[in-house]
Amino acid sequence: MSGEPQNDCLFCKIVEGHIPATIVRETDTTVAFRDINPQAPTHVLVIPRVHYPDAASLAAAEPTIAADILREAGEVAAEEKLESYRVVFNTGTGVGQTVFHAHAHVMGGRGMHWPPG
Ligand code: C5P
Repeated sequence: MSGEPQNDCLFCKIVEGHIPATIVRETDTTVAFRDINPQAPTHVLVIPRVHYPDAASLAAAEPTIAADILREAGEVAAEEKLESYRVVFNTGTGVGQTVFHAHAHVMGGRGMHWPPG
């Protein structure tokens, strides 16, 4: 897998600026933007600029960028002043993945149950 932009990928279009998003942070390798359908007071998605369908395939091909995603998740949490937060990588339709471009959900600002549903 090459990481090249995919014509039919929503998040590639956000990276390219062809679909609007409320961007909160950008780096050379990542973009962080507010989820359009937030499930918590803070709900930000951190995505790689390169296209891989999920977190594991990104980490296998581009481990440095996978680490960038985790670092940026922490930066988002710090900027949002979250003392506690959850980072989620849905992988596969069975657990609710709907966009097949790797992304971390950074969620906080309310209490959460464990285990998740
Ligand atoms: O993990 P999953 O694939 O379900 O997450 C995709 C997320 O992308 C959803 O939370 C959805 O609300 C969000 N989304 C977005 N902006 C879009 C399309 C989807 O924030 N234009």
